[in-house]
Parts: sequence; structure tokens; C-alpha cells
Amino acid sequence: MKSNFLADTYFRISLDDCEPGKGRTVVMPLLGPSGTSRCIVLKPRLEQCSHEFSCYIIAHEFAHAHLHNGGWGEITDREDAADALAQHWGFPKQPFEWI
Ligand SMILES: [Zn+2]
Repeated sequence: MKSNFLADTYFRISLDDCEPGKGRTVVMPLLGPSGTSRCIVLKPRLEQCSHEFSCYIIAHEFAHAHLHNGGWGEITDREDAADALAQHWGFPKQPFEWI
């Protein structure tokens, strides 16, 4: 499994531009050869959250991309795997705090 983000043309980071009543225009690449997405879409309201929560969310989303939305080692649940890898990178799970 390749994890090199910069060499992967299927990897993208986008900012969600959703406006209530108008929708969104996030451009996403097709699924990669592995059949999974490596696109990260971040919500602008992250800047209103705590630094710790924002870092955790960003690390969690990078972990999904790194793992091609799959498991990590013996962790087969993709959400648990993303949390575990984010924590391994130094960004432990934070309490939910959407404003
Ligand atoms: Zn997730």
C-alpha cells in the first residue's frame, strides 16, 4: 500500500464550501486504483474549534487517506483505525465540539 500523498494523483485536500440552500462545489477525483477515495474535505468551521480538536480532525482525515479508508494492523474498523493512527502521530481523539 502506497502512502505517499504527494505522488498520488488521487490524493486531494479541499475546503468544503457548502452554503445552506445553495449546496457545494467540492471537486473530488474518481476513486483510485485501490477503489477507495484519498480525498480530504475540511469544513471551514474547524477554525472556530479548539486547536486540539482541529488537529485531531485533520490527523484523523489524513489517517483515513493514508490507510485508503481501511484498517490499520489488527484494527479492522476504519474509524477506529483512523483514530488509532492519528493518536500514533500524536493527535489523540478529542471530545466532539462542533459549534
Ligand atoms: Zn473518520
